[in-house]
Amino acid sequence: MLLTPGPTPVPEFVRKAMADVTIHHRTPEFEKIFEETRELLFELYGMDEVVMLASSGSGAMEACVTNLTHKKALTINSGKFGDRFGKICKAFDIDYTEIKNEWNTPVSVDAVVETIKNDKDIDAIFIQLCESAGGLRHPVEEMAKAVKEINPNISIVADGITAIGVEKIDVTNLDAVITGSQKALMLPPGLAIIGLSNNAVAKIEEKPRGFYFNLATEIKKQKTNTTAWTAATTLIIGLKAILSHIKENGGFEKLYEDTAIRAKATREALKAIGCEIYPKTPANAMTTIYTENAPAIRKILKTKYNVNIAGGQDHIKTLIFRINHMGLVEDFEASWVVNAIELAMDELGLRTFDGTASRVLLENMFKGN
Ligand SMILES: *Cc1c(COP(=O)(O)O)cnc(C)c1O
Repeated sequence: MLLTPGPTPVPEFVRKAMADVTIHHRTPEFEKIFEETRELLFELYGMDEVVMLASSGSGAMEACVTNLTHKKALTINSGKFGDRFGKICKAFDIDYTEIKNEWNTPVSVDAVVETIKNDKDIDAIFIQLCESAGGLRHPVEEMAKAVKEINPNISIVADGITAIGVEKIDVTNLDAVITGSQKALMLPPGLAIIGLSNNAVAKIEEKPRGFYFNLATEIKKQKTNTTAWTAATTLIIGLKAILSHIKENGGFEKLYEDTAIRAKATREALKAIGCEIYPKTPANAMTTIYTENAPAIRKILKTKYNVNIAGGQDHIKTLIFRINHMGLVEDFEASWVVNAIELAMDELGLRTFDGTASRVLLENMFKGN
């Protein structure tokens, strides 16, 4: 049972959709698929423009940094992925400043406001909606609103790799929202997507940057249902299959609702058996538990109960474990993982097993508690 917060399991109907013969990307057949996929992405994102890139999520992060920073970037670093925005700036010699916090701590809107008031060069802000390193939800929409009230020309770029497809995002004040194929979209890795505002498109077209990740070139091509370079045809076919499936089975709203219920039920179940939730503001993409027993618990889960969950990275590598809620997770999977954790805690002598985790999870999921 794969319950890591990315990669997530690829459903069988998606694998089947991708198993057909390879289509040439410069054909009316593929352009039709591309157009239909774009339409579905417009529905998913609710933004003015959308581009698909043949790369992992980090490629889209790079494209946004290079195409949307004309003067100076502000990067929000509460974990590995926020840190990556700064590393990209460094790699391209782009001037940047950073607001850094511990991995369980969301950025303060006031700190962002202070920073942009004191540094008029900042023309783009980079932040995660969900910082997957600790399962943290940043107050992105609130921050974006405050920034736009001060200076509407500052671009707000949100990495939504573990947020798009997890929850409804208010994109009113966002200029770019990034996602990748292998998390909430349940596809194999290799496709990145960026939703863009009209303001972002204008800024990109004003000063085209780069070659492979030149977004001005991509936008121009993708508006005509083709791509600048060879499209990731197979993954786009898979993307169309998963988005159509979600639409035909209750729609995106139902997916967000199911994910929210599962995330809350899991948090409550684990709190009830004495687990400590790591992030101060947990995102619904995953549940992150802080415990020095994380490696032992993960090992028992994997060897005895056939559940694969993630650990941490860097300084909290052995201090957290993370359970995925993204995508089409079955109720019995959500139920099994909390059972397995309670059993592992019993085996480690941390708490006597009495079925509390399962009871609390089921009450939350099915009894409306
Ligand atoms: C997984 C992830 C990424 C990195 O994406 P890659 O596909 O590994 O390049 C970036 N940001 C967040 C928040 C992620 O969860």
